[in-house]
Amino acid sequence: MLLVGPRQFTKTRLRVPDVAHGGWLAIESTAISGVEVQAWKGITQLVRYPLIPGHEVVGRIASDPEGTFGLPVGTRVVVEGGIRCNECERCRNGLAVCTARRPANAYGRLPSTESPGLWGGFSEMMYLDPGARVHPVSDGLPAAVATFAHALADARTWAVEVPSLAAGDTVLVLGPGPRGIAATIAAREAGAAWVGVAGLGHDGDRLDLAARLGADVTIDVDQADLASSVADSLGRRPDVVIDVTSHDSEIILQALDIVRPGGTVVLASTKGTNAIEQLFSDIIVMKELTIRGAYGATSTAYDWACAHLSRDGRLDEMVTHEFPLDEADRAILASAGELGREDLLSVVVTL
Ligand SMILES: [Zn+2]
Repeated sequence: MLLVGPRQFTKTRLRVPDVAHGGWLAIESTAISGVEVQAWKGITQLVRYPLIPGHEVVGRIASDPEGTFGLPVGTRVVVEGGIRCNECERCRNGLAVCTARRPANAYGRLPSTESPGLWGGFSEMMYLDPGARVHPVSDGLPAAVATFAHALADARTWAVEVPSLAAGDTVLVLGPGPRGIAATIAAREAGAAWVGVAGLGHDGDRLDLAARLGADVTIDVDQADLASSVADSLGRRPDVVIDVTSHDSEIILQALDIVRPGGTVVLASTKGTNAIEQLFSDIIVMKELTIRGAYGATSTAYDWACAHLSRDGRLDEMVTHEFPLDEADRAILASAGELGREDLLSVVVTL
């Protein structure tokens, strides 16, 4: 399914050419996130049409003539969204986004005009670039559920690795989307002593799920004051606050306000052109805060996520909507909440 412009999918047949290096993935399932919604709406700089969207892919290795990936053909793998050139400054510094190709060296981002054309998950086949990183995942899971490894890997990176979360730490998660729910799971598993999750009035189902998966308190900020709800539940300020809300930039002010002095605020969602009004930086100085931007997941977090999927049977309920490839546009509408928000968590396209 080729996205030829904003809100314009064309069902297209592309050749799967012989390639000198790398291999091919037979796609099973691809989850949809804000990245795909933004590409479909045309509201991101990081998109060049035409492209095949989809960067949260699960499939089976269909060919690997040079043995690049070290796994037998037929192995089911989760493919990291980012591709590494391993030579640019960003790769050498271990950052998540390589820009050796434009607009980003990543699945679901590269236009289909870039050879060999098949760079996204809304397709039957995807090119495995030699710089792709793949992680084996259990055959015992439905492919749609296995795509949740992507959200789990991000969450492990943002909630545990980036803030160096230690057992006994306390974590407030702002935003109960798939990554917020996954952050709850990751923080709990790392030994967090308290996890709070905050969302909006229309997030009721998601907040209920967060509570079932280990949140000590869930807060509907349309109904209750965030800071006093955290204080009532925890009795002090959290060590770490993670922002995974979409678009809302003002929430960052609340994160800076609520986190404990000397604590860490992890900013893991983009706000586009939404500026923060009335940010007085003294709060960062006086509270001696650490503020970390986080974008994408580490490979060690992917390994953790794939292992965790096999041992946590509760994750089946993460996938709430599943669409065939032909209905890619409806899948994106569903993911954006435009087909209703009831029971909406992860939306997946399955072959
Ligand atoms: Zn690079």
